[in-house]
Amino acid sequence: MTHIVCPHCNAVNRIPADKPAAQGKCGRCHQPLFDGHPTSTSVAGFDAQIGKSDIPVVVDFWAEWCGPCKAMAPYFEQVAHELEPNYRFLKVDTEAEPELAARYNIRSIPTLMVFRKGEMIAQQAGAMDSNSLRSWIKQVAG
Ligand SMILES: [Zn+2]
Repeated sequence: MTHIVCPHCNAVNRIPADKPAAQGKCGRCHQPLFDGHPTSTSVAGFDAQIGKSDIPVVVDFWAEWCGPCKAMAPYFEQVAHELEPNYRFLKVDTEAEPELAARYNIRSIPTLMVFRKGEMIAQQAGAMDSNSLRSWIKQVAG
């Protein structure tokens, strides 16, 4: 069983290993567990994904005024589409969620972090293209 947190209602779903998670629907809200896009998240969603998910979670800390963040957004989108459902991709707007930016001491954006089972296992500041992003994620999270 793999624990997958619903990006819509934050419910924890148990997906049997032999079931394709990509087609899974949430047992509580019945929405798809994966839709091929990064999920914009608030503190509650972030904490649920980080703390209760069995798959690695890749987070993009960004802001509307940040040029490099906007330049990287389509690459992040593309890699999310490719690597789901083996990873969860989140976007945190640091202006809307200053608590999360403060918690992780984010000093420059974009900053990318990878979490596994509640622990941050990698961190990288600066924009990446899709090739760099893909290989970095696979290198740090398998
Ligand atoms: Zn749900």
